[in-house]
Amino acid sequence: MLKIDSHTHILPKKLPHWSKKFGYGDFIYLQHHKKGAAKMMKGNQFFREIEENCWDPELRIEEYKAFNTKVQVVCTVPVMFSYWAKSLDCLTVSEFLNDHIAEIVTKYPKNYIGLGTLPMQDAELAVEELERCKKIGLKGIQIGSNINDENLNEDRFYPIFEACEKLGMAILVHPWNMMGMKQMQRYWLPWLVSMPAETSRAICSMIFGGIFERLPKLRVNFAHAGGSFMSTIGRIEHGFNCRPDLVAIDNDVNPRNYLGKFWVDSITHDPMMLEYVIKLQGTKRITLGSDYPFPLGDLEIGKFIEEMDISQESKEDIFSNSTLEWLDLDKKLFV
Ligand SMILES: [Zn+2]
Repeated sequence: MLKIDSHTHILPKKLPHWSKKFGYGDFIYLQHHKKGAAKMMKGNQFFREIEENCWDPELRIEEYKAFNTKVQVVCTVPVMFSYWAKSLDCLTVSEFLNDHIAEIVTKYPKNYIGLGTLPMQDAELAVEELERCKKIGLKGIQIGSNINDENLNEDRFYPIFEACEKLGMAILVHPWNMMGMKQMQRYWLPWLVSMPAETSRAICSMIFGGIFERLPKLRVNFAHAGGSFMSTIGRIEHGFNCRPDLVAIDNDVNPRNYLGKFWVDSITHDPMMLEYVIKLQGTKRITLGSDYPFPLGDLEIGKFIEEMDISQESKEDIFSNSTLEWLDLDKKLFV
């Protein structure tokens, strides 16, 4: 059975020293301090150690083949978004990362599908880079759950979504710039608590702001099985019903109606939770995801789904059909 992993991250082996080049800011650069590993540095601060499976496309293919996976959808690591930077500098960073991903998908068309990154803080530049992403063979973009603390339904972002729909470019919304980051440094809480909340924030903003209503053909996938949105949909719907004066001010459609319209990935680490998400979303709107190569991901790439008591058709949907539909791609390209 064809397995396509819809949510993985990749970096070029070498990054320019953008902080030096631009003369400000804590842009990420890589210190290759030992063989097969590098330190991601944020200015002078250590951010995270990565291994060569973060940048070596051939080594990755061997690694994911071990979990019966043939194709990875690749996008950058969210810390690279750099929405806080000057727009033109963020564009330079985005172009560099997008060109790198385009090179990989051109070289290994049966093993990689690429998503780009955009300078979301500047809609005009973002749309130009989106058009270029399409030309160089990327199938969509990855964006943050908020842009410099602004929600995705803000008017300034609308032209970008509109262009995505028009160009047929898919979107992966990934939590980043997490709420409460400063207040809860301990216990990895930004990753365990804020990230799921961020994804729900993005879904709710797009629903209540009427983005899906105005752009019905927009194809959006939300990371980590939609974060806390799925488990709190009852509360969200009840809020919509009991306080429409607060909730339904820009869109009077019940939020539950959007279930099964957008996509979410399968990264729940919990078969019971995935069963519940299947009930809400249907198997055609859940894409196999891993968050490879990072430790909080499902690094067995859907092994728990293989073991679940659901039909072969359902597994086929999750393992490939959903991702192909999200990205508007033909299965024949990969078999
Ligand atoms: Zn991720």
